[in-house]
Amino acid sequence: MTREPAEPLRLDYLIKAGTIHAMTGQIYRSVGLRGPEIVAVSPEPDGLDDLAGRATMVVDAGDLTVLPAFSDAHEHLKEASSNTLLVPVDRARSIAEFTSILGEAVREAPPGQWILTSMGWHESNLAENRLPTVAELDATAPDHPVFARRGGHLAVANSAALRAAGVGADTPDPPGGKIGHLPDGQPSGLLEGGAVYQVMAFAPGPSRGELADALGTGSAAYAALGVGTIREAMINLDELLAYQDAWRRGLLNVRVRPLIRVGNELSTAEALALVDGLGTASGFGDDWLRIWGLKFVMDGGVEGGALEQPYANDPADSGHLNWDPAAMTQVCTEAVRRGLKVGTHAAGDRAVRTLLDVYEGVVAETGKLPPWTLVIEHALLSDPAQRERAVRGGFGITVQHALLWNMASEMLVTWGPERTRRVNPLDEWLAAEASLAAGTDLARPFNPMTNVWGMVTRGTKSADVQGPEHAIDVSTALRLYTLGSAACNGEADRLGTVTPGKLADLVAYPLDPLTASPDDLAELVPAFTIVGGKPTHDPDKRLAR
Ligand SMILES: [Zn+2]
Repeated sequence: MTREPAEPLRLDYLIKAGTIHAMTGQIYRSVGLRGPEIVAVSPEPDGLDDLAGRATMVVDAGDLTVLPAFSDAHEHLKEASSNTLLVPVDRARSIAEFTSILGEAVREAPPGQWILTSMGWHESNLAENRLPTVAELDATAPDHPVFARRGGHLAVANSAALRAAGVGADTPDPPGGKIGHLPDGQPSGLLEGGAVYQVMAFAPGPSRGELADALGTGSAAYAALGVGTIREAMINLDELLAYQDAWRRGLLNVRVRPLIRVGNELSTAEALALVDGLGTASGFGDDWLRIWGLKFVMDGGVEGGALEQPYANDPADSGHLNWDPAAMTQVCTEAVRRGLKVGTHAAGDRAVRTLLDVYEGVVAETGKLPPWTLVIEHALLSDPAQRERAVRGGFGITVQHALLWNMASEMLVTWGPERTRRVNPLDEWLAAEASLAAGTDLARPFNPMTNVWGMVTRGTKSADVQGPEHAIDVSTALRLYTLGSAACNGEADRLGTVTPGKLADLVAYPLDPLTASPDDLAELVPAFTIVGGKPTHDPDKRLAR
């Protein structure tokens, strides 16, 4: 009996690029992929030709620069995805456009089904500069409840929605809320504060199947921007099931590392029961969907963040803390003992200081912990002593320049110019030798290269440059956004660089971000994205036969 000779290694993809930045200091010209992994690299464009067979897809990408795909260390993919299920009235520029966009959704939905709009619209963007009336909504949707939420505190509803929620002429205002009325006493459809939630409670959320579908389309939008992995910064257990459905059905276009919310509305006993009953630990899953750990929220954001000094626009206010430090220390200690990592939102410097107290208390109970077991999310404001404590304690920090980019104008008002310019001083953190991972936190697809441009220039959306002295270089920004996040996810041996044996997550650009002018980065979008050896974004069919 004769044996077949061993099958030689045949590549699925052989990519020949102008430049391949491995982000290890090495530069290659060709990379070979087989299955989900990188199996070979060469400094020569033709250096891997021996590994190509008839079935190998050879990609001539001499005009492109290849990098490891981005790994977003803090983003809300579930939120961004469920937004795609809402009717996009934010596109409207007049009442007529508003009702016409609604009308399209009404025609597609069976009678009785709720029509829910996106929240990011405002009447000041409508030519009439007013809210749509209940009569206008009723004319568009006589048989479908319509609920048009505008921001967090106001909504307009049609008659069918008010009926479904049991709101009539005689319904009293709820606590902290107001139901608007017409001159004849009938509800006007205008709902404020608590009244928004009173009606919204009757609108069903998306089903598990709908959410799984939405995670597929939502994740595709991130893949189109060069993202390979998202650390999903807050979900509940039902949403974890939807993620598992999307995973089982092969819908995910990015790898996901979820954080499960431990709500501050829980008593200590309830929080401990959640941790003890979870039945899973950090690291469970596969390369596509793997549990990161737990999520706590210590304070508010730009409004409500717990500050050491009062708000610039309100000397009586210095924000709020959501957790009693002793209780949180007890819950986090139990979590760590059960193999769960912990990430905690801390925006203001008082929140960061309090969180350091908590984390140091946990380590006092458990002994030294592996890096990235206890993580500070955001640390928008911090001082040198806090940064030193974070480094000494071995606590990682996820940083999001995109928050400064998006909200610098609000920060200038609420926190004042001095604090705004020292938001997320990446140079100071790096000088202190902190473990950092970069992300976005905007809950909508955001170009990672705009974020890189921001880290490199400290540029913002509408408040010019803030704290240019805290800028870092492109190479460091890319490293925090690839290998930094991989380390945060405990998988620096599997992701974050272009290295044989690592997963084949790559992104290609029409210019080299490491040599381009930083100003060319802000709008730079990928030519293709590959995750696990499969194209997730390939608009020009560069990866197709
Ligand atoms: Zn977040």
